Amino acid sequence: MVRKMRKILFLGLIFILTACNRENFSKEDVAYRITQSEKIVWGVRNDTRLFGLMNIKTGKAEGFDIDIAKALTKEILGKSGKAVFVELTPKTRIPLLKNGNIDAIIATMTITFERQKQIAFSDIYFDAGQSLLVKKNSKIHSVNDLKNGVKILAVKGSTSAVNIFKVAPKAKVLELENYSECFTALKSGQGEAMTADDAVLMGIAAQNFDYVLTGGKFTTEPYGIAVNKGEVAFVKKINQALQKIRKNGQYNHIYRKWFTKIA
Ligand code: GLU
Repeated sequence: MVRKMRKILFLGLIFILTACNRENFSKEDVAYRITQSEKIVWGVRNDTRLFGLMNIKTGKAEGFDIDIAKALTKEILGKSGKAVFVELTPKTRIPLLKNGNIDAIIATMTITFERQKQIAFSDIYFDAGQSLLVKKNSKIHSVNDLKNGVKILAVKGSTSAVNIFKVAPKAKVLELENYSECFTALKSGQGEAMTADDAVLMGIAAQNFDYVLTGGKFTTEPYGIAVNKGEVAFVKKINQALQKIRKNGQYNHIYRKWFTKIA
C-alpha cells in the first residue's frame, strides 16, 4: 500500500514538473522565436486612416501603429529585425493572436478588463476616447441626442459597439465589419451617426469635410499592444522598447508625423 502511494506521489510530481516546464517554455517561446527568425509578425488595421491604412500605390499599410511597430521591432531585434504585417479587424484580432498567426496586435486596441482575461497587454502607448461622427448640421450634438429609434453605426467587436448600448440604450445600433463599411453606411443614410474612437474618427473627418466629430469623448480608450497570455518575456521586451522610443524622441517624431496636421 505504502509502495503504491509512493508510486502515485512520484508520478504526480513528475506530472507537475513537466507541466511547469511547459509553462516556462511557452512563456519564453515568442521572445525566443523572434530573436531566431529576426522578425515580428504584427496584426494591424488597414482601413483606419492615421493608424493603419492600405496605400493602394505601394500595397502597404501606413499609419501611427505601423510606424510604432517598425520602431519597436528595431529596438527589440536590432537593425536587421523585420516587421511583418498581417491585416485584421476588431472581430478577428483576438482569434488571429490565439491561433498563433501573429505575434502581437498593434491596432487601435483598447486595454479592457474583459480582454485581459484572454490576452495580455503592454503599457499604454496611446490615449483615445469614444466619440461620434455626424454630417455637418446634424441634429445630433451629443450622446444625449441618441434617443429612441436613432440609428448608430459601429464596428463589430469594438469597444465602441459595446459602450454605445450603455450610454444610449434606446438607440438602434447597426454593427458593420470595418470603418470603411461604417462610413459608407453613414454617407448613404443608413444611420444618423457613426461611433468609434475619436482618433479614428478624426482620420475620417480630415478627408471628408462634410462630416464632423461631436459630443466630445464619452469613454477612455487606452491603447495597448496585445500578446498571448503568459508571454511575460515578450511583454517586457515591448515595454522596454516603448520606454526607449519615448526617451529617444522616436515616439514624438512618429506622433507628430501622424497627428500634428489634424490636431
Ligand atoms: N479601440 C477600440 C477597441 O479596442 C477600437 C477602435 C474603435 O472602434 O474606434 O475596440
